[in-house]
Amino acid sequence: MNAAPLTDLSRLCVHTVTTRPWSLEESSEQFARAGVKGITVWRDALAGRDPAQAGQRIRDLGLSIVSLCRGGFFAAATADGRRKAIDENRRAIAEAAALGAPLIVLVCGAVAAQPLAESRKQIAEGIAALLPDCASTGIRLAIEPLHPMYADDRSAVNTLRQANDMVESLRSAHVGVAADVYHLWWDSELEAEIARSGRLGALFAYHVCDWRTPTTDLLNDRGLMGEGCIPLRTIRAWVEAAGFRGYNEVEVFSSRLWATNQSDYLRDITAAYLGHT
Ligand code: ZN
Repeated sequence: MNAAPLTDLSRLCVHTVTTRPWSLEESSEQFARAGVKGITVWRDALAGRDPAQAGQRIRDLGLSIVSLCRGGFFAAATADGRRKAIDENRRAIAEAAALGAPLIVLVCGAVAAQPLAESRKQIAEGIAALLPDCASTGIRLAIEPLHPMYADDRSAVNTLRQANDMVESLRSAHVGVAADVYHLWWDSELEAEIARSGRLGALFAYHVCDWRTPTTDLLNDRGLMGEGCIPLRTIRAWVEAAGFRGYNEVEVFSSRLWATNQSDYLRDITAAYLGHT
């Protein structure tokens, strides 16, 4: 079963990293002009700015701030390293609150020299330590499982099942998942686990792009929707069947596309959104 084609841009969100050559100001102005409705702000794009003022400028353009990317990296070899990670996430929560972003996406972290199960334990403890900050600010946290090729040093959470298990064990309305097709499309349990996220009320975000063959770089060779093999309309049907009505967030890291004219590229993004997402 495929989802019906998208006929307008009302649920289109673009991540600032997708058009990385542009500043936060240029991204938000260009997105608004192109009819994009939502923006996910990466912390590097926000650096050096007052988050409250930046948030107001973005809203004045008519854009919704969907999330702040990213927090996480809880796993560390030492207790001091884990404490520092929690402090950094507290700063991210304060930043999201000032910006007016309701959600922080978590890339949870991993340490290559320790077992993945140990990293997952540290991740759960790190998130648990942040729950009082979430309660006082209302900011929610989305665990984003990453493709297993990043299990060495980026995330020990590699499947949606693992993320859902963590959400269940943490038992907080402030903790859910971000489902990113790039990381999850290969998983035979994906349909069932998306449905489970829905039942948990935990499907907080949905990220789209495509998987290119061959992929020439583990990080920065994502494709625009339609350039690869991910069954985007099938996965969106599962996400919508799970009750998700939020933004379809275009998150593309691509050295190839960053090297192109970003205005032309933004036109390609809206066309790929309508044609292939
Ligand atoms: Zn993502």
